[in-house]
Amino acid sequence: MMEKNTLDKPVNKIRKIIGVMSGKGGVGKSTVSYLIASALKLKGYTVGILDSDITGPSIPRLFNLKKGGIQAEGNYLIPFETQQGIKVVSMNLLLENDEQPVIWRGPLLSKAVQQFWEDVAWGELDFLIVDMPPGTADVALTVMQAIPINGLIVATTPHEMVAMIVSKSINMAKAMKIPVWGLIENMSYLICPECGKKIDFFENTVNSGSKNGVEILAKIPMMREISAISTKGLPVQNEKVAAILEEIAEAVLKKSAL
Ligand SMILES: [Zn+2]
Repeated sequence: MMEKNTLDKPVNKIRKIIGVMSGKGGVGKSTVSYLIASALKLKGYTVGILDSDITGPSIPRLFNLKKGGIQAEGNYLIPFETQQGIKVVSMNLLLENDEQPVIWRGPLLSKAVQQFWEDVAWGELDFLIVDMPPGTADVALTVMQAIPINGLIVATTPHEMVAMIVSKSINMAKAMKIPVWGLIENMSYLICPECGKKIDFFENTVNSGSKNGVEILAKIPMMREISAISTKGLPVQNEKVAAILEEIAEAVLKKSAL
């Protein structure tokens, strides 16, 4: 039996760490992290999410988690475990009030990210998904420096595909010598809530293959079942949702070689 209080350092065994980044906010990066975590969990893997988007944490809202889920044991933190069995650490689970803004300067944000990595008892995980802060600023850099990420997935939208923003993220990853596994295009097309028909209305969507030499791993449509995650959870029995999760899991498993 584990004697929790005698440990002064968490004993973690994590097989693969995946960073989820985006060129800017508003592309649904956290939704992509959520879907990757859920897809892998459904395949039977043990999964954790480290929400390193300290100033704009969205992971707890997606899982409909309230604060206080994280317990401190001696010198370390025990992640909250969702109903799905996914371990989560996020700043919002530590704040008194989840609408309270985190007004910190760079160095303090970086310290928080480091602690989420070093002082959390994740235990044994097949995958740790790191939901990164958007953009290529300081904290994103800290995440790349402090956490031994095996591969990065860039969340993007059809609008962003033609922009320089995605290239910036990719170049940052290259500079840090972290492999970019590929892109996941969010809000890629629409699924009609009435008849379930697929509607393509973005000219810029990439139909297959790659962008900037980076592979498209999966496409996530705009659909009610996904936009209602935070209130209704993810209906994994739904045929279309199941197919999307399958696509994501297959792509990630192939890249991670697990
Ligand atoms: Zn229709």
